Amino acid sequence: MSAGGQPYSEALSAAARRAADWLESLPQRHVGPAKSAHDLAADFGGPLPAQGLPAAAVVEYLADKAEPGLMAMPSGRFFGWVIGGTLPAALAADWLVSAWDQNAVLRVSAPAMAAIEDAAGRWLVDLLGLPDESDVGFVTGATMANFAGLAAARWSLLADAGWDPDRDGLFGAPRIRCLVGQERHDSVDLALRYLGLGRPVTVPSDRQGRILTDGLDRQLSAGSGPALVCLQAGNLHSGAFDPFVEAVGVAKAHGAWVHVDGAFGLWAAAVPELAALTAGMDLADSWASDAHKTLNVPYDCGIAVVRDAAALRSAMGVQASYLIRAADGAADPLEKVPELSRRARGVPVWAALRSLGREGVAHQVRELVLRAGQLAEQLAALEGIEVLNDVDYTQVSLAFGDDATTRAVTARVIADGKVWMSGSHWQGKDVLRVSVSNWSTDADDVGTAVEAVSSAFAAVRAAG
Ligand SMILES: *Cc1c(COP(=O)(O)O)cnc(C)c1O
Repeated sequence: MSAGGQPYSEALSAAARRAADWLESLPQRHVGPAKSAHDLAADFGGPLPAQGLPAAAVVEYLADKAEPGLMAMPSGRFFGWVIGGTLPAALAADWLVSAWDQNAVLRVSAPAMAAIEDAAGRWLVDLLGLPDESDVGFVTGATMANFAGLAAARWSLLADAGWDPDRDGLFGAPRIRCLVGQERHDSVDLALRYLGLGRPVTVPSDRQGRILTDGLDRQLSAGSGPALVCLQAGNLHSGAFDPFVEAVGVAKAHGAWVHVDGAFGLWAAAVPELAALTAGMDLADSWASDAHKTLNVPYDCGIAVVRDAAALRSAMGVQASYLIRAADGAADPLEKVPELSRRARGVPVWAALRSLGREGVAHQVRELVLRAGQLAEQLAALEGIEVLNDVDYTQVSLAFGDDATTRAVTARVIADGKVWMSGSHWQGKDVLRVSVSNWSTDADDVGTAVEAVSSAFAAVRAAG
C-alpha cells in the first residue's frame, strides 16, 4: 500500500466525532431540516472535480454541508410516518459491518455473517411466536420482505397447480387470485406488481381498518383456483391488527396462502399483554417486517419469514458453478433474499436483540404503546381535538374539526419544530398522524408533543 501509516484512522475518527456531535444535538435541535434538497444542490453538485480530497476532509465536508438538510429522525421527538431511531448497539454493529466489508452471500465465504444472521433469524422466529420450521431472510425493508414472502407464495401456489414458473414463466400460468384488505399498505400492491400478479381484489375493512372476514369469505367463495390473501399487523393510521384467527381460518378453508404484512406490528407478538392483537398470526404462511422501525436498527433492514423454507429457497435461490456451497447443504444467505451481493444487515439485528434481551424487546415495544396511549389521552382531553382511532398500539390519528384546520395545525407543528408529525388522509378526513416508534421517546417527549400540538392549534384558532 502506497499511503503511509494508517489510511483509515483519520477518516474514521472524524466520522465518529461528527456522528457523536449529531446524536448529541438531537435532544435540543429543531426537528425539521433547515434547508431543502434544492438549497443543498450546489454544495454537493456541479461537475465532478478533477482532483480528489483526503478521506478525512471528505468526511468533514459531508458532515458540515449535510447538517442543515438533516431531519432529526432518530430523535425521541420525531413522530412522522413510521420511522424508528437507532439503538446504540445496533448503530455500532452497523459500523462494524461496514468495516468488516463481508459480502454476506455464501456461508463458506462469510461464515461469521452467516452464523450471526442465522442466530438472529432463530431469535426473531422465537420472539415473534412464528413457526419453528420457518426460515428468515434479511432484506432492505418491509417492501422487499413483502416481495420475498409473496414470491415464495407465488412459487408454491403455482407448483401446487402443476405449473413450473421457473421454467415456463407466468404467461399462460393459472391465475392467482390476490386478496387484500382495503387498508393494506401500498407496498403490498407494489410487491404484487413486481411479481407480475396484477392489481389485487380489495376486501372492505371496518372503521379501524381491519379486514372484514365475511367480506373475505364472500370474495374467496366467488371464484376458484389458487388464492393468496394478504393480511396486516399494524394499520398505518390506527395501528389496528386484522382479526387473524377468523381471517386466516377463512383463507385456509379456501386453500389460500396467507401472508402478513407486519412492518411494525409483528413486534406486538413480543409483548405478552398484547397477545390478543396477534393471536392466530402464527397460522399464516409468510410474514414481512422491518427491523428499522420498531426494533430501531439503522436503515436499511427488513425481515422476510416463510414457513415453508423450501418454497423460499426455490423462489429466491440460484445455482451457478462459482457459488460454492457449504458441505452440510445448509441454506446460503443468497437463497433467502432477492440480492446476491449484499451487506450483512442482519448483524445490527443480532446486536439490537442481544443488547435488549427478550425482556428488553418487550419493554421497548410496551413503552411505545404506553407513550402513544398517553399522547392520545392527553390530546383527547383538550377541547376541539378528536382522536379518530382506538389507540391499542403505536399509532394515533388526530383531527381538529374541519380538514383546513387539521392541515393548518399540521403545518404549524412542523414549522415550530419542537416535534415532527406527518399529515395524512384517513376515513375521509385529513389527519395529523402520530407514530411512536423511537426507543428513546419518553414522558418528557410526550409532554413536549402535547404542548406543541395544543399551542399550534391555539395559534391556528387565533389566526382564523
Ligand atoms: C413501512 C411499511 C411498509 C414498507 O416498509 P419499507 O421498510 O418502507 O419498505 C409496509 N407495510 C407497512 C404496514 C409499513 O408500515
